[in-house]
Amino acid sequence: MQRCLPAEVFSEWKKCVTEGSQLPLSVANEIAEAMKQWAVQKGATHYTHWFQPMTGITAEKHDSFISPTGDGRVIMEFSGKELVRGEPDASSFPSGGLRATFEARGYTAWDPTSSAFVRDGSLYIPTCFCSYNGEALDKKTPLLRSMDEVSREAVRILRLFGDDQTKRVIASVGAEQEYFLLPKDLYAQREDLRLTGRTLFGAQPPKGQELDDHYFGTIRNRVSAFMRDLDLQLWRLGVLSKTKHNEGAPCQHEMAPIYTDANTACDDNQLIMAIMKKCAAKHNLVCLLHEKPFAGISGSGKHNNWSLATDAGSNLFSPGKTPSQNARFLVFLTAFIVGVDEYQDLLRCTVASAGNDHRLGANEAPPAIISIFLGDELNAIIKSIIDDTSYHEQKKSMLRIGVDVLPSIPKDTTDRNRTSPLAFTGNKFELRMLGSSQSIAEPNIILNTIMAETLSRFAAQLEGAEDFDKALHDLVRENLIAHQRILFDGNGYSDEWKKEAARRGLSNFPSAAECLPAMISEKNIDLVVRRGIYTESEFRARYAIHLEGYNKIVNIEARTMVDMVIHQILPAALNYTKVLCNVLHSKQQAGASCKAEKELIGEMSAHTDALYDAVQQVRNDLKNIPQDPAQAAMYYHDVIVSGMEKMRVLADKLESLTDKAYWPYPTYSDLLFYI
Ligand code: ADP
Ligand code: MG
Repeated sequence: MQRCLPAEVFSEWKKCVTEGSQLPLSVANEIAEAMKQWAVQKGATHYTHWFQPMTGITAEKHDSFISPTGDGRVIMEFSGKELVRGEPDASSFPSGGLRATFEARGYTAWDPTSSAFVRDGSLYIPTCFCSYNGEALDKKTPLLRSMDEVSREAVRILRLFGDDQTKRVIASVGAEQEYFLLPKDLYAQREDLRLTGRTLFGAQPPKGQELDDHYFGTIRNRVSAFMRDLDLQLWRLGVLSKTKHNEGAPCQHEMAPIYTDANTACDDNQLIMAIMKKCAAKHNLVCLLHEKPFAGISGSGKHNNWSLATDAGSNLFSPGKTPSQNARFLVFLTAFIVGVDEYQDLLRCTVASAGNDHRLGANEAPPAIISIFLGDELNAIIKSIIDDTSYHEQKKSMLRIGVDVLPSIPKDTTDRNRTSPLAFTGNKFELRMLGSSQSIAEPNIILNTIMAETLSRFAAQLEGAEDFDKALHDLVRENLIAHQRILFDGNGYSDEWKKEAARRGLSNFPSAAECLPAMISEKNIDLVVRRGIYTESEFRARYAIHLEGYNKIVNIEARTMVDMVIHQILPAALNYTKVLCNVLHSKQQAGASCKAEKELIGEMSAHTDALYDAVQQVRNDLKNIPQDPAQAAMYYHDVIVSGMEKMRVLADKLESLTDKAYWPYPTYSDLLFYI
């Protein structure tokens, strides 16, 4: 932009981005013209306002730059108005009741804080998406609001520590993305994969991931060609892809970008997911982003690394070298602990989905109970603050916040507990509960918001204090005492932890259906409304869409299973049984013994009958879905999902008995050990 724009225009834009000033239309016009020229040079013929509706993925509608000149020719044109505002209508996105059809038109507004890019012949302009009445219909708007909010409250705290330079505090995020790659031809043969993104059936193969021979293993040629292509495409778009490796399950991989501000990270993650899919197709592969594509092996998640930094780049979760830096660190750390403890249910709701239900608590992914892992060193420090006992063995004095220097906290030792849903990793927190297909917006909105909430409470207490150091010490100590129940360093996979967490009064929502109603408790609505992140109706709309999404996904999965049972699995089983019967018949006539045929026919028939009953049951159950969405979710969870499990067990038994030539879709061995 600096190269393409006149200096005054560039600095107006800069001011708009850093100080939130309005951008005059004349400036927008100049930026639009420069953007168009830049994009056309890169081969663009169209532009699109790119937005993130509440579906969790992105949306785009392309317009060309062409404009007729009246003499039968066209010129390429793009105005400031077109850059700044769009009217895509876009009335078919879920709105959770925010848009009645008579006022259905949706508007997009340029987000000048995120970079535009050129892709597939179009100039992509990141935008917010709102209704005619100005209600946010997307995931970006509340994210931007939450970033402003946490910045404002964090700056307030920094002022108390004598920092009068920092204008803005930035929530920074690095999201590691896990995914599966499958051969396209095999994928195409499975209806479940095509319609739902995961295998709804599939007997366990003789080999899974028990040898740990895939994790960090040598990357196969076809996969490495894909990864290289992916990196090049992402770098070209300014997405800083940094790390790539094989993950735990066969065919599972991971990429991680270099962290950036939460808004850009969220845009980038959407791009990463979209480009992974497109790039895979180019290599005759299919990229699965589903949380649990295969039973019996690891599912995919997204590790959301989150921290706060000043505009000068100082990380507020880095323990520093002076008493003041360390006091600052402890205030931010305590605020985080308090926020997570008070709003654990809300944070849990942000990662609740049908896909993630298969992962959380399944001994491969963090439990559904939220707790924070701090590591030995930090725990020892916190214990000494809480107990008012000495931390330094030699000094025999207690640690006074704001006076003493904290002992140094080595980074490496703090990252080892992989069973924790939310781990401190040296200078950031790693939220490991996100599903691989989910937008990272919501958890980051809530992390920012709960942080803003507690920081603001802390600031109010400290601002009037007579003795700042004492007030600080008391504030940190009292809050740590009140909220230490959320700290847990042990094995999050164990059953003892579930019992212990219940004793501590931590919430445990094993599934999305059980969790989601907690989203709209009075306490949670109060938080997001008071902090200006959502209006009450905006927030309730998100709740409605969450529930609706869950219900629709389980519905589609159940109907796909019914379809496959009726049209593929039962016919295959019957055909193979018929063959066995024919063999039996001929062999009996020849007077041969027929033990194998008889037993196989018996087993096949028993499973076939049971599967027939199970599919009829699910068909009937699907006719009785309750009207109320929350009740429907519980019904799907209790009745439909268990019916689906029943069908699967029986179909998988049939698969393991049937001649491969008769089986209608590729098996787990085919899919997982082919590339
Ligand atoms: P690991 O697999 O051990 O968690 P990775 O290197 O794969 O580590 O991922 C770490 C992620 O955390 C990267 O995306 C990195 O950019 C990001 N990260 C590092 N520092 C910060 C920070 N201060 N704020 C947010 N994210 C960060
Ligand atoms: Mg990680």
